[in-house]
Amino acid sequence: MRTTRYGALAMAAAAALTLSACGGGGGEGEGGGAEGGEAAADSIRIGIKFDQPGLGFDEGGSYSGFDVDVAKYVAGELGYTEDQIEWVEAPSANRENLLSNEQVDMIFATYSITDTRKETVDFAGPYFVAGQDLLVPTDSDITGPEDLNGRNLCSVTGSTSAQRVKDEFAEDVNLIEQPGYAECVSLMGGGQIDAVTTDDIILAGLAAQEANQGQFKVVGNPFSEENYGVGLTKGSELCSDINAAIEKMIEDGAWEEALAANLEGVDYEPNAELNPPTPAECA
Ligand code: GLU
Repeated sequence: MRTTRYGALAMAAAAALTLSACGGGGGEGEGGGAEGGEAAADSIRIGIKFDQPGLGFDEGGSYSGFDVDVAKYVAGELGYTEDQIEWVEAPSANRENLLSNEQVDMIFATYSITDTRKETVDFAGPYFVAGQDLLVPTDSDITGPEDLNGRNLCSVTGSTSAQRVKDEFAEDVNLIEQPGYAECVSLMGGGQIDAVTTDDIILAGLAAQEANQGQFKVVGNPFSEENYGVGLTKGSELCSDINAAIEKMIEDGAWEEALAANLEGVDYEPNAELNPPTPAECA
């Protein structure tokens, strides 16, 4: 039902069709002006994080990070120029809703492919594999999740990271949930938190931020595999074209280049056995 969105030439006529075909009500898009379809048809709405340096980060109107670079590449392959991308903030807890309510067309937001999420959304990808880890103060004695008994651990609502803690360590750990990882890190800076948990690449990016330098370290013992997928509305017809775009990005070297550029100055080595992954979703 969204195929016409990237058939750039179809625009005007297709716009009305696309919007009405989406049916189901509620999916009026955000940002207004989409009533007649003109505004929505020649742009694509992409959900990203705004507060994860190196991945999805709001630089004050422009956006940077590996998720952003993969999103731009994929959008380009789907026929959209960068000017046609409308960036939408997609915090961990809002991602499924943003897709189900058709407020975004695709999400590139450190979004792990999981069976539970697949009940409500579709995924293309994966385009990167990270692992859950811990960020702790530089002088901390914590070396893994087993050291967290009785400690205050921060993670983000709606993330696989918080869910795994609840499932596997809930009895022994005091889990504090925040809307974003940056909030967790500031709480840790203030001494209220002993560790922050999420994907290693996110933690490394936060640790490398100028304001945090020298204060925190990533423990370096990942205890999960997080396959980053492109979140899509259920039944989206974009999936295989997105996978083809990701494959092309990997083959032509742009994937590697984007990863290296976004990890500059960050103390992080992607898992070379798992990366780059083969985008095999959309079965
Ligand atoms: N990749 C994990 C997830 O999808 C954690 C990172 C995040 O919250 O975005 O939940």
